[in-house]
Amino acid sequence: MEISQLVDFLRNYNGKKIRLMEVCGSHTHAIAVHGIRDILSPQIELLSGPGCPVCVTPTAYIDRLIELSLEADTTVVTFGDLLRVPGSRESLNEAKGRGGSVEMVYSPMDVIELAKNNPCRKYVFAAVGFETTAPVYTLLLDNAIAQGLDNIRLLTALKTMPGAISYLCDNGAEIDGFIAPGHVCAVTGADYFNQLAEKYQLPFAVSGFGAKELVIAIYGLVQMVINHENIVKNFYTSVVDKDNNPIIEEQLKKYFIISEASWRGMGIIPDSGLLLREEYKHFDAGSAGLNVDNKKNKACRCGEILMGKAKPADCPLFGKVCTPSSPAGACMVSEEGSCFNAWIK
Ligand code: SF4
Repeated sequence: MEISQLVDFLRNYNGKKIRLMEVCGSHTHAIAVHGIRDILSPQIELLSGPGCPVCVTPTAYIDRLIELSLEADTTVVTFGDLLRVPGSRESLNEAKGRGGSVEMVYSPMDVIELAKNNPCRKYVFAAVGFETTAPVYTLLLDNAIAQGLDNIRLLTALKTMPGAISYLCDNGAEIDGFIAPGHVCAVTGADYFNQLAEKYQLPFAVSGFGAKELVIAIYGLVQMVINHENIVKNFYTSVVDKDNNPIIEEQLKKYFIISEASWRGMGIIPDSGLLLREEYKHFDAGSAGLNVDNKKNKACRCGEILMGKAKPADCPLFGKVCTPSSPAGACMVSEEGSCFNAWIK
């Protein structure tokens, strides 16, 4: 079929209401940028799930980074997004303004130079992300070990996707199918989601990030819903294989063990995170047990939005108190956040 025919189908669909969820922040952004919602019939609803790593990180993690940044011999190193995420009282940026030591970098590997140049200082990298990002931290550790650097630490809030999807399905989320995260699947393989499709009797469509790729995957997913095909289909075969990448899997197993993790709005989910193995604990900056999520602004509805139970416009702060230049909640900070993308649209 021509792409225009797929678009026509999606625009004119008039069957039972279908609710689809993407669980990848890059998909959330791509869907907004390409105006994908505008071509869908009102009977097809796209929800944004817990796929933005910054958004799902609880406030206790931000608070711990702030504490570390205020220690005399410690610098917190992070990507830019995390700087503006509100903790329970303030953001890392605000802590920096009152003397916290914080460096923004574009790659975790930049920590190596910092640590080499200042051997008496401890550098704590804010290791946030999903299956896609975790391998980069293993390379950072490989390098730190090879160069004998003992002043690098990770504060990990690494998460794995199946636990969060299980949580949503077990807690009454009304979702008819998932757009599976293309970047995660590039590491894990498309089969990673087979068990979930089987267990919850729901279809998964692995999608790329271009407009055409999204239209093809969403059309495919709608067809699977209509035909009760509760399996995983890979619509991103140029990048995603059926199986995982064994080299990356080995790297992850070398440094990390599966652990419980705390998700904003969802609480502690078993087997949904990665913590450093005991033999590498000397690289850890106190990552376990950062579970509390005390919103700075109690009206923020990020938690419900991440579970598909509310939309950004349902939040009383959206576009008033909370905007990208002055975010009151995590979902407005990152370009992968639901509220950010609802705002820029
Ligand atoms: Fe939170 Fe802001 Fe989104 Fe409201 S608009 S849910 S305060 S991020």
